[in-house]
Amino acid sequence: MRKYILAIDQGTTSSRAIIFDEHAQTVSFSQKDVNLHYPNNGWVEQDAHDIWKSVKHVCQKALEKASLKPTDISAIGIANQRETIVLWDKETGDIIKSVIVWQDRRTADYCRELKEQGLESTFQKKTGLLLDPYFSGTKLRWLLQNTPNAMAKAKKGELICGTIDTYLLWKMTGGTVHATDATNASRTLLYNIIKHEWDNELLDILEIPKEILPEIKDNSCLFGETTKDFLGASIPITGMAGDQQAAMIGQACFEVGMMKSTYGTGCFALINIGDKFKISKNKLLTTVAYQLNGKTTYAIEGSIFIAGAAIQWLRDGLKIIENASKTEEIAARISDNGGVYMVPAFTGLGAPYWDPNARGAIFGITRDTTTDHIIRAALEAQGYQTKDLISAMIEDSGQQINEIRVDGGMVENNWICQFLADITNNTVNRPQIIETTALGVAYLAGLHVGIYSSLRQISNNWQMSRSFKPDMIDSERAELYNGWKDAVKRVL
Ligand code: ADP
Repeated sequence: MRKYILAIDQGTTSSRAIIFDEHAQTVSFSQKDVNLHYPNNGWVEQDAHDIWKSVKHVCQKALEKASLKPTDISAIGIANQRETIVLWDKETGDIIKSVIVWQDRRTADYCRELKEQGLESTFQKKTGLLLDPYFSGTKLRWLLQNTPNAMAKAKKGELICGTIDTYLLWKMTGGTVHATDATNASRTLLYNIIKHEWDNELLDILEIPKEILPEIKDNSCLFGETTKDFLGASIPITGMAGDQQAAMIGQACFEVGMMKSTYGTGCFALINIGDKFKISKNKLLTTVAYQLNGKTTYAIEGSIFIAGAAIQWLRDGLKIIENASKTEEIAARISDNGGVYMVPAFTGLGAPYWDPNARGAIFGITRDTTTDHIIRAALEAQGYQTKDLISAMIEDSGQQINEIRVDGGMVENNWICQFLADITNNTVNRPQIIETTALGVAYLAGLHVGIYSSLRQISNNWQMSRSFKPDMIDSERAELYNGWKDAVKRVL
């Protein structure tokens, strides 16, 4: 009897594979880094073959470490970095130019032109998104327009495109299945999330031929079967979701008003708003949280581009810490931030500011400032950025937030979790499994093959590791947050 699920989490900086058993417990884990390339100012690219090789490698390793045979795996789930786009030749599999990563800003000018033409509301009311280079649509247009003959080939159906989920699915099925899921589609600027279809008007504006787009499916269904050369047996792929939506499933945020916030390279907070589409008035995004049995649940999302990346910069750029986990004791050994604020707008500011041209800054430096203050400012920034999002989310969703469920590599840091609770004045709950992305897509895959029975069972499975309660007086909270607001104003 097959009773294991293999979950793939193809992230921006690494690919991971985790095998879960029928009780959603981790059986084995494997991870491999993936390189990013920066060929021009603001450009971020990856090599599709590197991504594919890393995924194959971690899946094989996870299987080996668990001492399982491929026939023990009941189903595979794929979660992926979102918005990153690949265009390739349907016959040969050759990649057109490169993979353009979500962080890439090369289409900033074009997005501004579209905005100046008054088109932002056209996109927002159909896709829930704003006109920002972050999303896949303008990147795809760039690939088509900057490659000789690409447009003609695309129109003849010789090229196909997709986000990373689609590309992996196509590779795993030996080039036979070209499909995506509703959450990944909802990040392209091309998918009408109310009518559930690729939108002809938006495709016309961006000059993208419909022929190249994948079929859109539910998050839990039969996407295809792997070829035998992937792991040695044919295995069904039955779950797929963008990483943040997968994390929302892994965090069991199934009720309206439930919120999760993930702190990895970037930070992504999503709140469940139920089955009614709602446009944000505070420059947050409306997105598909999940689509099951043809029924869509929506979320409002706040995306912050730089979270853990600021800690990486302290380590690799400034070289003032040895490793990320050291920041916890450093922040705790000083009594306050000494008036120092860091606005980590390294690649512009995301929600709720959306200023692609903003750049990072550190304010409030005096003769007393030490590297400890700068390190603490980088950690505090995560709290302030989250508070910005939460205030906007409460306004947009009309929901009070009772609890923030956190995950991602950064939340191993207790100091950050406590500061988050203090500055947002909310309870912060950290679950036992912080690999919620992989867990979420394992649930999606397992739901379809009957290993997991229902969303209710998944909710019951959610287990807390630690809860952080707010412990800061209102006046201190207000003073700290005012300092942040002032710093952001100077950066914009
Ligand atoms: P991703 O999936 O986006 O690659 P992860 O969820 O693995 O990211 O989180 C890694 C990020 O978290 C890195 O940017 C790292 O700097 C940061 N990080 C990891 N551990 C800690 C820690 N103890 N304190 C602060 N930041 C941390």
